[in-house]
Amino acid sequence: NSDLILYVNLELVNEMSDRRYVIKEMLGQGTFGQVAKCWDAETNSYVAVKVIKNQPAFYQQAIMEVSLLSMLNEKYDPDDQHHIVRMLDFFLYQNHLCIAFEMLGHNLYELLKRNNLRGLQLKYVRTFSRQILDALVVMKDAGIIHCDLKPENILITPNVKTAGVKVIDFGSACREGKTIYSYIQSRYYRSPEVLLGYPYTTAIDMWSFGCIVAELYIGLPLFPGASEYDVLCRMIEILSGQPPDDLLREAKNTGRFFKQVGSIYPGIEVKNGPISAYRILTEEEIEARESKKPKVGRWYFPRGRLDKLIYTYPWKNLNGENLPETEKTDCLALVDFLRGLVEFDPNKRWSP
Ligand code: ADP
Ligand code: MG
Repeated sequence: NSDLILYVNLELVNEMSDRRYVIKEMLGQGTFGQVAKCWDAETNSYVAVKVIKNQPAFYQQAIMEVSLLSMLNEKYDPDDQHHIVRMLDFFLYQNHLCIAFEMLGHNLYELLKRNNLRGLQLKYVRTFSRQILDALVVMKDAGIIHCDLKPENILITPNVKTAGVKVIDFGSACREGKTIYSYIQSRYYRSPEVLLGYPYTTAIDMWSFGCIVAELYIGLPLFPGASEYDVLCRMIEILSGQPPDDLLREAKNTGRFFKQVGSIYPGIEVKNGPISAYRILTEEEIEARESKKPKVGRWYFPRGRLDKLIYTYPWKNLNGENLPETEKTDCLALVDFLRGLVEFDPNKRWSP
């Protein structure tokens, strides 16, 4: 990726020999390594340092994180206005690639947990959504797919006066048109095209974004499937529909989850034929196919259709009161918004 080299001179990845960063506490742990809150003795401020596991695959992907994030920061968001985390430094320390970021607050999953998973007030859902969208617009302009958008990867900005968030963790990100991996995104937030093995674009981040917006309001994940099959079943029930036939026809993994029931062959339109050429496998069929019990999570809340989920959302009615009229109107708008985001067809799905 020669154009990326412009943003990261790999010769600058120097061994850190002095004692600039002093670890104060551990902030988080993920697949790529650990994140520590550190005191930066040079700038006299706290920073978050991500220490990457010292294995070649993680190192390579972390170099990609550094490259893409520096491009986003420097070229697309020089004034830090678009809710994307700032990278401050990167270096090698004892054979580990380390990346220093500005210090941010809790992630949105922690925030939801603190709120007993009852969801946030609509005004916060709105503010956070708008800010995440702002970041997504920039990423789309830059042709960067985040590939792992989820509440854990959105952090609260520490400024107490103005509620705000920033998108972090470009450790799975890639460039549109240069997609390498097929197994991406965290399962609950995984888009239909990734589940089904269909070429993907920045639209997959919009799917995850829709899942996040719904979760911020209801407090629980929208499609908390115990397996990919379970996630698809939940999508089909909650959205009362399924991925379009042409996507199913062209996707690599369709046969893992769907059965062809119609006589619609590529290029031939069947008049008065079946509405869909595919149906999702039953649990028994999937069990027979995989010769083991499918992982199907117990249907705990949320379940039912999307609009019902949003209006008759139990936590908001704990006191036995109905939603106030204004919130009802807002809920209608929220459902409409979500419908544009958790849209099966990536071409019809709303862009940021
Ligand atoms: P991974 O790729 O391993 O998931 P992340 O970059 O997502 O790594 O970081 C893991 C966790 O560390 C995050 O979910 C968050 O809780 C914490 N964290 C990461 N960056 C920061 C930061 N800049 N400020 C505060 N906490 C952070
Ligand atoms: Mg992460």
